[in-house]
Amino acid sequence: MNLKSKTAVVTGSTSGIGLAIARAFAKEGASIVINGLGAPDEIEKARAGIESEFGVKAVYSPADMTKPDQIEEMVRLGETTFGSVDILVNNAGIQFVSPIEDFPVEKWDQIIAINLNSAFHSIRAAVPGMKARKWGRIINTASAHSLVASPYKAAYVAAKHGITGLTKTVALELATHGITVNCISPGYVWTPLVEKQIPDTMKARGLTKEQVINDVMLEAQPTKQFVTVDQVAALAVFLSSDAASQITGANLSMDGGWTAK
Ligand code: NAD
Repeated sequence: MNLKSKTAVVTGSTSGIGLAIARAFAKEGASIVINGLGAPDEIEKARAGIESEFGVKAVYSPADMTKPDQIEEMVRLGETTFGSVDILVNNAGIQFVSPIEDFPVEKWDQIIAINLNSAFHSIRAAVPGMKARKWGRIINTASAHSLVASPYKAAYVAAKHGITGLTKTVALELATHGITVNCISPGYVWTPLVEKQIPDTMKARGLTKEQVINDVMLEAQPTKQFVTVDQVAALAVFLSSDAASQITGANLSMDGGWTAK
């Protein structure tokens, strides 16, 4: 597939799934706006790596996904630098685990802001340009937790369920404008974030690495395998193709069978 004339903005693309998605779009020739938190030298390494490995242009937006004005600036950065924002991937996200009665109010607000509200703000900013060009792809990284719940993840599950509602609504609004709106719902994905939890969990529960992976992390996932970031990225690239032009308003699971149960 050739995305040479397209620009993709990927939020939360300084690591994990978002970085893999940004790199996958770059591989197809798209210009890239990366975004996310992290050490400046690491971010610059990721940005420069995209340019040198794939021969495309990449810029970094430091927009904080809790700040609506910065989110709008991120979209404008794509439009002013490259002339358009054609593909918008709302991927930034955080997690917090706590019983509901102890759930810190500021964590609830932060998760709803980053995992849900930011997608509203970026879509709102990007849609006029997509409508004018009669082409667009909006892809939201949801989660198996957009379809089912787990205890102690109230804010995350609420935000991810919200993302599917937002996806469906905007898909209907934009259906005749050449713009598709979908979400991808991964189960456990092997990201640095997940990998880093293993040693602590081994210690805390007195388990081996294999037990942590199979009995704790992959307990929900019938295939007993992690999803890879590249698999999620490949689906995002497919959703941006002409072959996917009739997929809209969908919530596509990639969870090793988790939500089939
Ligand atoms: P990650 O921690 O590797 O990446 C999260 C990204 O979001 C990072 O780039 C981080 O800098 C960015 N981010 C966090 N707060 C931000 C803020 N305020 N402003 C801007 N950027 C911010 O995690 P990941 O596993 O790659 O997760 C990416 C998305 O995938 C999230 O929406 C997550 O909910 C979803 N997801 C992950 C898994 C999994 O198992 N890893 C499963 C299902 C869904």
